[in-house]
This record gives sequence, structure tokens and C-alpha cells, in this order.
Amino acid sequence: MSVRLLAITPDALSLVSHAARTCYASTDRATPESDARLVASCIRRGHESVLEHASVTVEIECSRVVSHELVRQRIAAYSQRSQRYVKESEPNYFTPPEIEAHQPAWAVYIDAMENAWSAYADLLSRRVPCQIARYVLPNACLTTLVATWNLREVRHILRLRTAPDCQPEMQEIARGILAVVREAAPWAVEDVEC
Ligand SMILES: Cc1cc2nc3c(=O)[nH]c(=O)nc-3n(C[C@H](O)[C@H](O)[C@H](O)COP(=O)(O)OP(=O)(O)OC[C@H]3O[C@@H](n4cnc5c(N)ncnc54)[C@H](O)[C@@H]3O)c2cc1C
Repeated sequence: MSVRLLAITPDALSLVSHAARTCYASTDRATPESDARLVASCIRRGHESVLEHASVTVEIECSRVVSHELVRQRIAAYSQRSQRYVKESEPNYFTPPEIEAHQPAWAVYIDAMENAWSAYADLLSRRVPCQIARYVLPNACLTTLVATWNLREVRHILRLRTAPDCQPEMQEIARGILAVVREAAPWAVEDVEC
């Protein structure tokens, strides 16, 4: 499970504040300090459309349980490792800590994973194409996806996906997204708590 920043709009704060200043005909008053104050004030007042001018691209490794949830966030571009074209040659799956902490359940879980991969390998050995053989693979299968969201959508995702009633792995991924955005554009998520 990981989140890695691949790209962010260059000079994102200046761009977003320029957009905001366009609304108030104050583009001639830009300074780094006042830009940050202006964007914080836009966020406080709900004038969040200005954040849509800047985007982040992240690479996420997670289970297919979580990737399925994540791609429901629609204001986005996604590219995900294909199980149609790429063989899942090795058992590569997420084990929830809740299972790891529960020894009898853990044995059942590992058994299910091994059986799934063994059936998958068996089907491939019988020349079943991987796009068909993949039907036996579990939701726990790890996947990699690249996601691009504008900063308004990032904030929306963080609001939804860090809530305590979300899938625990989803909350972890959301916290990973927050960490990389906090590093690259702290001003965009200053008020986000989780
Ligand atoms: C705790 C939790 C439980 C969930 N459980 C389920 C479940 O059981 N079953 C299920 O199917 N889904 C479930 N979801 C998914 C959820 O219903 C949303 O589909 C998903 O979170 C995307 O959210 P969104 O539509 O707000 O955001 P996005 O798709 O990221 O869109 C961002 C915003 O743009 C606007 N927008 C986007 N598209 C449209 C549109 N077509 N029309 C109008 N406005 C639009 C909305 O304001 C939206 O909030 C769950 C989500 C969470 C967080």
C-alpha cells in the first residue's frame, strides 16, 4: 500500500491565486504571502473553484477493493494496471491488519489466496487467456493506478475517504494522499484534518 506524488501543476499557488485575483481585478497585487492568504480566504468562504486550475498526479498501490472505490471519484483521470493484458504471475495481495491480528482467520485467508492463485495458474497453463482466468482472482489482489485530480477534487476525496466509517485501507490511502499533497501544496490542505 503506497501513495507517491508523480506531478503537480508548476507554481500551483501563483496560478490558483492569479485565478482568484482575476475575480477581484487584483492581479497586480500578487506576492507570495498575500497569495497564500488570498487562497486560504477563498477556501474558508467556499470559493473553491479556483483550486480546479491546479492538479496533482499520484501513483497508488492498493488492493482492488480500494481501487474500485477510488475510481468512483469522477472528476479525475485514471490509468490502472490491466488484468486483461498483464499476468498476475505471483500471488500479490493485500492482507488487512484486522486479519493478520486474528490467527485462525489469517490461516483461512492465506488458504483462500493460495487457492485463488493456484486456480489462476492452472487456467493459464490450460491456455485460458489472462482476461478470462482473472475471474478467479480475489478483491485483495494488489493493483497500481495513476490518478490525476484537481486540488478541489483532492479536498473532496479527503473529506469523504478519511471518515472513520470508510474502509480502513481506504482511510490509509487517503491519509497517504493527504501526506503527499501536504508536502507539495500545503496551502491547499491546511484546514484538512484526519
Ligand atoms: C463511506 C462511503 C460509503 C459508500 N458506499 C457506497 C455504496 O454502498 N454503494 C455505492 O454505489 N457507492 C458508495 N459510495 C460511493 C459514493 O456514493 C460516491 O459515488 C463516491 O464517493 C463519489 O463521490 P461523489 O459523487 O461525491 O464525488 P465525485 O465523483 O468525486 O464528484 C465530485 C463532485 O462533483 C459533483 N458531481 C460529479 N458528477 C456529478 C453528476 N453526474 N451530477 C451532479 N453532480 C456531480 C458532485 O457535487 C460530487 O460531489 C460510498 C462512498 C463513501 C465515502
